[in-house]
Amino acid sequence: MTTKAKTSTFVYSFKDGDGKNKKLLGGKGANLCEMTQIGINVPPGFVISTEACLNYLDTKNQDLPPELIDQVHEQIRQLEHDTNKGFGDPENMLLLSVRSGSALSMPGMMDTILNLGLNSTTLPGLIKQTGNERFAWDAYRRFIQLFGKVALGIADEKFDKPFDAIKKREGVTEDTDLTADHYREISDIFLDVVHGETGKPFPEDVYQQLELSIKAVFGSWLGKRAIDYRREFKITADMANGTAVNVQIMVFGNMGNDCATGVGFTRNPATGDNVMFGEYLINAQGEDVVAGIRTPKPVHELSHDMPQMHAELTALSNRLEEHYREVQDYEYTIENNVLYCLQTRDGKMNATARVRTSLEMANEGLITRNRALLRINPVELDQLLHPCLDPESKKMPVAHGLPASPGAASGKIVFDADRAEMARDEGVKVILVREETKPEDIHGFFASEGVLTSRGGKTSHAAVVARSMGKPCIAGAEGIEVDVEKQIARVGNTVLHEGDVITIDGANGNVYLDEIDTVAPKFSNELQTLLSWADEISELKIMCNADTLDAATKASDFGAMGIGLCRTERMFNSQDRLPLVIDMILAKDINERQEALDKLRPIQRGDFKDLFKIMSPRPVTIRLLDPPIHEFLPSEKQLEQEIDHLTRLRDTVCGVNDLMNSMQLLKRKADVKSMPKPFGPGGRELVESAIAKKQQMLIKVRELFEVNPMLGHRGVRLGITYPEIYEMQVRAILEAAAECSKEGFDVCPEIMVPQVCTSKELLWVRKIVDQVHADIEAKYEMKLAFKFGSMIEVVRAYMRAGRLAEIAEFFSFGTNDLTQSTFSFSREDAENKFLPLYEENNILQDNPFETLDVKGVGSLMEIAVDWGRKTNPELKVGICGEQGGHPESIRFCHHIGLTYVSCSAPRVPIARLAAAQAKLTEEEYSQKIMTHLSS
Ligand code: PEP
Ligand code: MG
Repeated sequence: MTTKAKTSTFVYSFKDGDGKNKKLLGGKGANLCEMTQIGINVPPGFVISTEACLNYLDTKNQDLPPELIDQVHEQIRQLEHDTNKGFGDPENMLLLSVRSGSALSMPGMMDTILNLGLNSTTLPGLIKQTGNERFAWDAYRRFIQLFGKVALGIADEKFDKPFDAIKKREGVTEDTDLTADHYREISDIFLDVVHGETGKPFPEDVYQQLELSIKAVFGSWLGKRAIDYRREFKITADMANGTAVNVQIMVFGNMGNDCATGVGFTRNPATGDNVMFGEYLINAQGEDVVAGIRTPKPVHELSHDMPQMHAELTALSNRLEEHYREVQDYEYTIENNVLYCLQTRDGKMNATARVRTSLEMANEGLITRNRALLRINPVELDQLLHPCLDPESKKMPVAHGLPASPGAASGKIVFDADRAEMARDEGVKVILVREETKPEDIHGFFASEGVLTSRGGKTSHAAVVARSMGKPCIAGAEGIEVDVEKQIARVGNTVLHEGDVITIDGANGNVYLDEIDTVAPKFSNELQTLLSWADEISELKIMCNADTLDAATKASDFGAMGIGLCRTERMFNSQDRLPLVIDMILAKDINERQEALDKLRPIQRGDFKDLFKIMSPRPVTIRLLDPPIHEFLPSEKQLEQEIDHLTRLRDTVCGVNDLMNSMQLLKRKADVKSMPKPFGPGGRELVESAIAKKQQMLIKVRELFEVNPMLGHRGVRLGITYPEIYEMQVRAILEAAAECSKEGFDVCPEIMVPQVCTSKELLWVRKIVDQVHADIEAKYEMKLAFKFGSMIEVVRAYMRAGRLAEIAEFFSFGTNDLTQSTFSFSREDAENKFLPLYEENNILQDNPFETLDVKGVGSLMEIAVDWGRKTNPELKVGICGEQGGHPESIRFCHHIGLTYVSCSAPRVPIARLAAAQAKLTEEEYSQKIMTHLSS
């Protein structure tokens, strides 16, 4: 925070302030200056700068500096001169509003005081001047309350209680039913409240009122509300350094029926429709519109109520948009048939409106195409790509977890993947609820509307898989205790059973009981056009992480330029393959293993053909098996339980058989035949063989046990120990490519090796690939092009990038594993253990598993790009970790010259826009990143 004032000018008249300097004058103040200077009718006033605010907050005794007070007095004199009124003059008084306004808009976060300048001597003057006693007393009681609350720290309820008591006594519900006498009585009570609460009378001196108000507005910058808001929206001190104070002449929309107040948008912020949009109230003050005391009318009705004012408002609306070249959100007041604009700012709107207005404003020539792309926050597009909860729903969440994959879904709870599949087959919509998920649950993901886990982070298995499928997921909802054995989940005192309906919102991590309606997503033509403009600008290519035909099709529809990561292990998990994979793992020798692999190969080949065809002619990068193989087996605990259950079942089967045998002793043969047979012949053998298989699996699970499997026997290490597995996969890839080519598809296969840390590993796999490649070319009698590359996700690989690039034609940065190993933070646990605390206390500004840590992980990436391209200038370099779909990370990827980013299908449109923005803002980003890296 800058603490010393750099200039002795603290106060700027609206006539002189620099409308472009929002940092100094705050957003509202700068716009008031600009509007004044382009001739819009703004009530005159002045801005006290943000610098003055920081200076004041920095002083120990919290006094306004004397030069500031002098400058304020000077401005008041000028206002008195311009308006021919006097501040505190009972005969012709000047009343002021005092409002906050920081550089970035923080709506409703800081304070405003209206009608400043009223006291026991000016009040009679106001009554005389307006001839409206009720109006004047109403203004007075509003001022006492607002001033009491903001400047003197008195709680609203101290005023609201007596106010409501009088309404009750009088038997009225609307404020508009109160008379001047009532307001006089209320004002007197309010003055007593102030005296009682502060021990001092309400300040009569108008300059004292003003000083206290300025101090209060400055102070609200450090109020809890404002601090929480800044933290929530990640507004750092240098983005919004202090608040300015805007002091402005009051104009009144509540002095009669030729007065009104309203808020407007230059275009509809919900649809983007190019029509003036807004609401107004006749004979009312601004806060009445916001507070909902009366129901405002839609702005088009103003053309009946006040035709001339409607025409002037339309002209104002057009003028504002033409000038700012952006949709404006403005406030206005009509006082005795004169229209005043009280403020304007860039309009906030939903994603649909944002996209439509971008396209239309560019087509109208109001803004350039570049501007049209830059004015959309890529993350907002998420709203358009996933179902979201009905915004009208008032339901409160019962639990909260990490928003791991966006989208909203309702369904009946199921606690295991098989049950999910059975329910889906019966046409029931389900949410899979687990403590955490494992690869063997994959069929449950397919069958569910969404996934909820009580453990794990945003790169946990559940999160990554759900994202790749575009299904909603909440991970690490630790407030939910899942007991899979008992098939229940506890949320506080509520116990949820299978079949109970819940709703999850993967965009914010909220869990609700019962069903909530959702709004369907729409990949509109407008968005498609806009993204095609983005693609024309971007240098980065946008690939997708996809391992199913479904995900690849969705990504292709969203404009993916190929597959950057196909995790082949995902293909091992569906029900028709898992038994073969288990046979492969349990194989006693290479022959048995080969037998299983021979059955798997045609299945993998079929999968790859699907991906090649849907992406043709775009590249498809297929990663050889990565996870430790024990992940395909159930856990030791689960197997022990199952063996226990099966053993008991065996006893039961034996018992039933004994019963059947006994029957023959009890009944005649003919009767026995017609009796029911609970277990058919061979039942016992079936149970015996299941027990034997499970026992075999248990032995293997114990044999494969690793204390730290993430750093264990996985990736290329696995491929070197069991070369036949990689050989099978490479063969399936190249056979698929050959067959697709023969069928006339243009294919571009890329084979990628995971977890590489030394060049020897890569050479080892390359040898297998070359042998298989030669076989396939001979078998299919054709030339087959492919690329060979490496995941770069182990710190050592970054340090050896130069050497690895001699062997690899491409690198793909696996920043999930890299982040884990750079920080030594477990990617499974960190996000719901200590990372939230780290973020809250600013030890880390962002979650590095979500936003690339440019200082650490990013530096390693930059080194690998440089060293890799030094030995291999043609080296293609991309990223396929989860950060690859995050706009801020994409800017960095562009900055260090990556070729592509790869992300899950629903992130593809976001990444396309972010890539164009990265290119358009490269210069500014380079500066920013230099400062950031050196901080
Ligand atoms: C990575 O580590 O970034 C990556 C993409 O691989 P996975 O998440 O499958 O380990
Ligand atoms: Mg990895």
